[in-house]
Amino acid sequence: MRDQSFTESHGSGSGTVPADDPRAAQAGAALAQQAPESPALPDSTGLRLLAVHAHPDDESSKGAAMMAAYVAAGARVMVATATGGEEGSLLNPAAGEIQQCHRDLAGVRRLEMAEAAEALGIEHVWLGFSDSGLPEGDPMPPLPYGSFATLDIEHASAPLVRLIRRFRPHVVTTYDESGGYPHPDHIMTHRISMEAYEAAGDPERYPDCGEPWQPQKLYYDRAFNPARLKALHEALVEAGIESPYGERLARWEDGERPDWLTDHQATTQVPVGDYLEARDAALRAHRTQVEPEGFFFATPNDFVREVWPYDDFVLVDSKVETSIPEDDLFAGLR
Ligand SMILES: [Zn+2]
Repeated sequence: MRDQSFTESHGSGSGTVPADDPRAAQAGAALAQQAPESPALPDSTGLRLLAVHAHPDDESSKGAAMMAAYVAAGARVMVATATGGEEGSLLNPAAGEIQQCHRDLAGVRRLEMAEAAEALGIEHVWLGFSDSGLPEGDPMPPLPYGSFATLDIEHASAPLVRLIRRFRPHVVTTYDESGGYPHPDHIMTHRISMEAYEAAGDPERYPDCGEPWQPQKLYYDRAFNPARLKALHEALVEAGIESPYGERLARWEDGERPDWLTDHQATTQVPVGDYLEARDAALRAHRTQVEPEGFFFATPNDFVREVWPYDDFVLVDSKVETSIPEDDLFAGLR
């Protein structure tokens, strides 16, 4: 849908072109030629990162290029997915009426997740909880009995503590206190991540969950960084290409900023320009959830490479010395 912020391009009179128009790709490619080459990450052999997510597909829409970049730099990267995503619905009309989705959506999503993990080169584990679903209505219906977001914190955190003690990550990434998106499973993912980060190194806590291990740094993912959306929006408008961000940014600037959009400032920008295609491949693997022409693909990668070739994070805790801003999640650990 177009809104008033889609301005006509300057001078040439060509108007706004859709992002999938070949002219958009050409404009992006021209920009990319002027862009400095994306710096490679330092050798990360021997380092381990654990990213904690709520549902299969969250890992591909938040920080995916970062993970592919660290795998290429030699690190081990693992995603822990709290739930099976079985309360999700078929969000991609282009996927058609897949009979198997009605019979066994969780099974379909397991296959999609395995394909996404392969596209990123990461390791993957399920924490084994059931999806709480996104409650809608007034009054809100109760969450399904026994679902992830209804569990007490110790019960819900134990599998993650056990995983941290087994995989022994140096860095953990998760969502901020609002979940980064208003879904009860995302907020619960934040809560178990904080609990497990604090408890995993303490021999007194969760004594049945393995030998203590203390991760050294904790980050919140900042995929919806408003500064990033704004920069991409302005570059697209400047080039006369349809921006998918205009309506959202206009609403936010009118004071209709959603509660879940917190004010955490990004402290750490990981250069990921060479790994945007790996992210795309991972997102496309979640074919029942992600529309191939949808929001996540609306900005040509050449634009992203020129304007904002980073995945953004907020450093929440560090047991090692580091200086802000950072361009590496393992800064201080080598
Ligand atoms: Zn999710």
